[in-house]
Amino acid sequence: MCGIIAYKGERNASEIVVQGLKKLEYRGYDSWGVAIKNKDILLRKEVGKITDFNEELPKSSLAIAHTRWATHGGVTKENAHPHFSCNKEVVIIHNGIVDNFQELKQKLSKDHKFVSETDTEIIAHLIESYLERGYEEAIFEAVKRIEGRYAILVIFRDSNKLIAARKGSPMIVGVEDGGYFIASDIPAFLGYTNKVMYIDDNEMVVIDDGIKFFNLDSRQEVQKRLIEIDWKTEEAEKEGYEHFMIKEIMEQKETIRKAINQDENKLLFIANKINNAFGTYLVGCGTAGKVCQTGEYFFSKIAGKHINFAFASEFTNYHRFLTKGGLMLTVSQSGETADVLEAIEVAKKKEVEVISLLNVFGSSMMRQSDFSFMINAGPEKAVASTKATTSQLALLMLLAYACANKLDEGKKLLIDTASKVNDMLNPRYEEHIRKLAEKIYNSENIYIIGRGANYPMALESAIKIQEVSYIHAEGFAAGELKHGPIALISEKTPCITLVANDENKKDILSNAMEVKARGGYIIGISPENNIIFDYWIKVPDVSDASPIVNIIPVQILAYHLAVLRGLDPDKPRNLAKSVTVK
Ligand code: GLU
Repeated sequence: MCGIIAYKGERNASEIVVQGLKKLEYRGYDSWGVAIKNKDILLRKEVGKITDFNEELPKSSLAIAHTRWATHGGVTKENAHPHFSCNKEVVIIHNGIVDNFQELKQKLSKDHKFVSETDTEIIAHLIESYLERGYEEAIFEAVKRIEGRYAILVIFRDSNKLIAARKGSPMIVGVEDGGYFIASDIPAFLGYTNKVMYIDDNEMVVIDDGIKFFNLDSRQEVQKRLIEIDWKTEEAEKEGYEHFMIKEIMEQKETIRKAINQDENKLLFIANKINNAFGTYLVGCGTAGKVCQTGEYFFSKIAGKHINFAFASEFTNYHRFLTKGGLMLTVSQSGETADVLEAIEVAKKKEVEVISLLNVFGSSMMRQSDFSFMINAGPEKAVASTKATTSQLALLMLLAYACANKLDEGKKLLIDTASKVNDMLNPRYEEHIRKLAEKIYNSENIYIIGRGANYPMALESAIKIQEVSYIHAEGFAAGELKHGPIALISEKTPCITLVANDENKKDILSNAMEVKARGGYIIGISPENNIIFDYWIKVPDVSDASPIVNIIPVQILAYHLAVLRGLDPDKPRNLAKSVTVK
């Protein structure tokens, strides 16, 4: 969840890690800290965002840094990482949770003094307690005793080694002539190198004069390949937009087309697997979860296939329904979502094949899946997912068409959708939605209703509005409104109505009418205007692809609600981009 960056080499490590942290801030940002190794180790920690930090730190050839997303202990300077061991020989930063931290703390507290409330600090003391066995051995011994998911980076007062170990949480090595980077995400070092080495789960990497990888259980060395990735740095920068969120919303002019540009044989091969599987589960979390839920409708309507949806975070409650010969389709932008990775572990135990839809090449999910599709949306840096969402929707829809043996028809519809989105995303369109945001940004509540495949999109709309504007927003299946929630409607309550030109149109309009009759302010997102709309946002008529076009205006609205409320839409409070803790 947090951001990790380290550098060892000929460049100025202090500067590189501070710049890297700024690039990683979307991952977590309640506090940050840096450890700089010269003769001694200097720690610098602060509460808040690193964006405005411009001080010059001492030059060095080795430094580690961290932006925290607190799980254990409040947001304070003491709890910010890095953490020293008692005698200051070991310094550590950590992403994840030490599940057995209370037990370990109790054992260690006889000989060790703790200065923070974090679970992380325990690891530093644990390593220190084995230090006489040598640096690598001390870490092997320490991690053997840690339960939970983690990525850790360690440096030492009396050595120039940089050591990292991971189980569950992501970390990747960047390699250039004369230096090595280790980071939780590629954009942290993409300005310097696009050559990477993946640290797999249960591995340790030691950077000294060269680089060596080890398995944490066998303690044997493992060989690694150098891989070149093709993301460009400028793709990850703002390119004149004020925020990443609006830049990424606008990129949907291109990204839908990129998502459906897939190898047809592979699509048909996977479609065949789905058609013959003994039950398929669509699994994701948060926005990707809503995409999966929409996928249920796509597969049902387009291919007549019943596919089950489950939130990854709930999957342990569904595992009994998985049987050998079944399939799991997982969706995640980062490919590092801890809950999804856990669901995959469950699937593997049941000998169920896993197919993943991803945006980050080489992510843990990709490596743990039997097959994967890249949505090719380019780096998504705003915490609120936008372009990845519509790309995932488009690709799932294409798979549904492949299952129905109507791949050409699906491609045609999605290419048409992509080009209509391209036309739709113009400055006048954005301005029309911004004007609506001006009318409703002081609202206490916003409700969103949808039917069919637009019902999960109503839920996703609520997520989008909540996470960036902090306005209470809730999505409903429109028909459910009258069974309770309609009591919440009072004079001028904004109610966004997601309409598609499909079999649900008549009913959703009647439901909107019921809200209007109780004083609600009806915002229609629809291909056609209707007398009941108080405000109309036109979307292209793309038949079954309506969820893709209907969510885009809500993304724009959420963005402008946040800006009008003086909030930073790229960095919503309490959230982080990839959720690598359970
Ligand atoms: N559990 C650690 C803490 O609360 C690490 C959190 C993180 O991943 O940022 O400090």
